Amino acid sequence: MRSRQHSPRQTVRDPGRQPGRSPEQHSLPLPVPVHGAVPPPGHRPPEDHVPELQQALLAWFDAHARPLPWRRHYTPYEVWISEVMLQQTQMERGVSYFVRWMERFPDLPALAAASEEEVLHAWEGLGYYSRARNLLAAARTVMREHGGVFPSEPEAIRALPGIGPYTAAAVASIAFQLPVPCIDANVERVIARVFDVDSPVRSGPAAARIAALARRLLPEGEARRHNQAMMELGALVCGKKPRCGQCPLARHCAALHLGIVHERPVPGKKAEITPIEVVTGVLRHHGRIFVQKRLPHGAWGGLWEFPGGRVESGETPEQAVVREFAEETGFAVRVSAPLGLIRHGYTTYRVRLHCFALELLAPDGAQPPRPPVLTAASAWRWLERGELESLAMPAAHRKLADSLTVAQGPLLTAP
Ligand code: SF4
Repeated sequence: MRSRQHSPRQTVRDPGRQPGRSPEQHSLPLPVPVHGAVPPPGHRPPEDHVPELQQALLAWFDAHARPLPWRRHYTPYEVWISEVMLQQTQMERGVSYFVRWMERFPDLPALAAASEEEVLHAWEGLGYYSRARNLLAAARTVMREHGGVFPSEPEAIRALPGIGPYTAAAVASIAFQLPVPCIDANVERVIARVFDVDSPVRSGPAAARIAALARRLLPEGEARRHNQAMMELGALVCGKKPRCGQCPLARHCAALHLGIVHERPVPGKKAEITPIEVVTGVLRHHGRIFVQKRLPHGAWGGLWEFPGGRVESGETPEQAVVREFAEETGFAVRVSAPLGLIRHGYTTYRVRLHCFALELLAPDGAQPPRPPVLTAASAWRWLERGELESLAMPAAHRKLADSLTVAQGPLLTAP
């Protein structure tokens, strides 16, 4: 494990590794805490005071837990849906998606009976659409293989489509009170600070230490409260700008005691961001707009879109959209007007999507024209502008579709 990076002021030894010694017993100067966070007197090393730390955390949670809609009944279905949604979005947005989802699919049988199109539409805007497809597949698996009852054994939960170790742990502990810790980014941050984990939290040794500490911190019979409390503390108090003055773990926190709160967790290597130029086109013919449904797999599998693709080296965006249309649909088109630019990001890409209005180069007068020859889609439609609303689309294409329904003024930015 990498050694801790001390600043010149941080001359007190790690109290977590000096059990029984309070700061006052050291002859070295006390650390100067950052951002006004003052360590309370009498630091109590967390390894030596686990029951006390557990109690402080639970008492704080009882007093400060947010009244979230999935915290009323703790049904496995609600816990599962909320956990998957919160992996995609911030809490406030997650709550509104969750409420809408429950109105539409109030229980497992309702979700299992829905079409993929309905589920993707309800998920629209959250991204990573494979998660929505997996929710549907898992609901159908529960109906088929578990008689409609969400399984309670961790292995059976983990075996459901799309459920990884974190989601399985969350459902097992929060819905079924099974003694397994949940480790998300909030929990990693809290543990890295309280126990002064001095290497990047996702690296092998640090991840193993955090997992071991998370298991050790879990009080018997309190998995639901404790796991939520750890995550809630990371979200509300021990965030990127920690509010140590309001923290129930301040007396135990090694990073606060050492004045290195903002050096924990140790950052890992940042993913490289790749800029890409992409084009898409809105092809109109006799007042209708052409859309196609993406093939079932991949980032936006099964969603509807306007055809398009990447700008290749040496091409202008106008040339690219004409070429992409020919390759994906067999239609010969020309650009009739630029519609603007949409900037968005996904995974490690920063995307500039150039949007164009298109018309058929040699319209054959048919209503609609001859069918396309699809090479990157499974279905196609010619729609009235108002019908676009009913389709599940990737966020950037939804923005473009919405801009088409505004009679005056472009919604998109100029390139
Ligand atoms: S756990 Fe976080 S908020 Fe609490 S004292 Fe430590 S750094 Fe501050």
